[in-house]
Amino acid sequence: MTFARRTYERKPQPLYRPVEPRGSYAKPQAFVSAPKQPRAENRHLLDMARGKPCLIRSPICNYDPETTVACHGGGVANGKGMAYKVSDALTCWGCSACNHYTDAYAGATKAQKAAAFMLGHLAQVCEWRAIAASTQADPKERMAAQWALDQLNATPVGETP
Ligand SMILES: [Zn+2]
Repeated sequence: MTFARRTYERKPQPLYRPVEPRGSYAKPQAFVSAPKQPRAENRHLLDMARGKPCLIRSPICNYDPETTVACHGGGVANGKGMAYKVSDALTCWGCSACNHYTDAYAGATKAQKAAAFMLGHLAQVCEWRAIAASTQADPKERMAAQWALDQLNATPVGETP
């Protein structure tokens, strides 16, 4: 058995090739995609939501702390589905019903969902401030709350602007 070398066949070439930019041309700024940001994560901050009261209190709220999770909010307004991912600091305690309300619920407009989430998140910042400032709170929770406030560049606790 022999292994005959195949004859090289040149592919048919187009009569002219479209001109492609070569060399050190910089791409126009509009076409350069932003580098992906690493997602700001804090597992302890998310775990802290367990058993906490719902802060969203949407029209379909179940007011059951047993169902509370850290909601990241739905929609592009918070960066979901874009080049960066939603930070764990951009969350709030929400019951299972409100978590659904701010995401897939069909009975509310995008604006209503965004408003419900943002109100919940504002209440959340107050809660985190209270936890971060409390000497009674679990030191782990204090650290997690302070981490969130730092991420949000919120005013330090006890400081008046
Ligand atoms: Zn709720």
